[in-house]
Amino acid sequence: MGRRAHAMLFPFPCSGHINPTLKLAELLHARGVHVTFVNTEHNHERLRRGAAAAGLRGREGFRFEAVPDGLSDEDRRGPDRTVRLYLSMRRSCVAPLVALARALAERDDGVPPVTCVVLSGLVSFALDAAEAIGVPAFVLWGTSACGFVCTLRLRELRQRGYTPLKDESDLTNGYLDTPIDWIAGIPPVQLGDVSSFVRTLDPQCFALRVEEDEANSCARARGLILNTFEDLEPDVLDALRGEFPQVYTIGPLAAAMHAAQGDAGGGLSLWEEDAACMAWLDAQAPGSVLYVSFGSLAVLSPEQLAELAWGLAASARPFLWAVRPGLVAGDRGADALPEGFAAATWGRGLVAEWCAQEQVLRHRAVGGFLTHSGWNSTAESIWAGVPMVCWPGFADQYINARYTCGEWGVGLRLDEALRREQVAAHVEELMGDTARAREMRRNAARWKAAAEAATAPGGSSYESLGRLVEELRLGDD
Ligand code: UDP
Repeated sequence: MGRRAHAMLFPFPCSGHINPTLKLAELLHARGVHVTFVNTEHNHERLRRGAAAAGLRGREGFRFEAVPDGLSDEDRRGPDRTVRLYLSMRRSCVAPLVALARALAERDDGVPPVTCVVLSGLVSFALDAAEAIGVPAFVLWGTSACGFVCTLRLRELRQRGYTPLKDESDLTNGYLDTPIDWIAGIPPVQLGDVSSFVRTLDPQCFALRVEEDEANSCARARGLILNTFEDLEPDVLDALRGEFPQVYTIGPLAAAMHAAQGDAGGGLSLWEEDAACMAWLDAQAPGSVLYVSFGSLAVLSPEQLAELAWGLAASARPFLWAVRPGLVAGDRGADALPEGFAAATWGRGLVAEWCAQEQVLRHRAVGGFLTHSGWNSTAESIWAGVPMVCWPGFADQYINARYTCGEWGVGLRLDEALRREQVAAHVEELMGDTARAREMRRNAARWKAAAEAATAPGGSSYESLGRLVEELRLGDD
């Protein structure tokens, strides 16, 4: 057994990266690793102002620090802010991270110097910081293994001429149905399933190249950590290990956290959770409620929102819908819901800004999830044993939806162009008592049991986390 490890964790500053990184931090800490969790100053302030302040105070062996992201207030607003943030962090974060690690080493507080850096996707520059500090780096790539492999293969898709698209008609003329059967570990899929980034019309392929570069840069890390479990994606994990010898599958992270800390295992949320949701759910019949959420980043047009709303109204099922500010184009939220919707769904629908999603999914009243197929949401739903209606729109969400509906048999997919009739029909099919619905529920129960077994002592994810902790502890010894 080596020295005591000290992991410096640094996620890209959005919920989809912060949440899993924080869970990993908690799990490492519970196994005796010192943790320094690094936010950007902007998010640190946001968390400090919100309900998360208590969590930020840290505990023995677990502290929070912050580095500047280099973005001006003006650049922080507007439609391309995530791109600007990404570019700004690449330019300005390496030196502060290195300086932080050095400053921590000099503090006379009995905490050992940083022995490893754990980064999320989109912050591959932190690999340079790890090199400068002189410690190994590990990447927590926040998608499924299938999502990661598809992202890795974007480069080949570009080089083989599948993408960028020739013109806009390729989005609708069937081109995206082109079979892709050569990605090792992935069953035959269609081009459009691989990733949203193949849909680019940009001849420079900016976003596509960022994604492929970020994924391929993981090869520079000592190990790759994935929020999945062995039984869920055996073929793709096998294929991946040919390229990445050190893959640690430690998910579903929500399940692992629950196994380690029970219901106390909450997180830091950039959003305030609406406590009324749980009381409302308590009053609903078991398995009767459809939970609807599109994560932290998706932006819908007012027309898409209206199709969804009227689809939910027509389905006649109780629903809980998380409509965060910014879900609708123009920085709008629930105020953009169509006129008459509240009256049409009176008494059977609840609209909240932001829910404690893991708790919601695990509530006995929830029987279905209408989701954008973000990986955290999908993994949480798998763990909760809740079947899904999938409406993917970005990045790995397409391949997650493909696996959810195909390989795992726990979902129904909505067409890209939302239609209220299809929304209502799919919700009805998911929540109703048809043979298909019963089969999806049986499959969901099976995956729930498998997720619990993987994260329980002796399970594959539990053991994999143990191996990771051992590797972090050994560091460069
Ligand atoms: N989430 C939540 N409350 C909500 C909506 C989302 O806590 O009302 C959480 C959800 O549990 C998940 C994360 O936000 O952990 C969303 O991550 P995901 O990968 O699904 O989507 P992204 O936000 O990255 O598109």
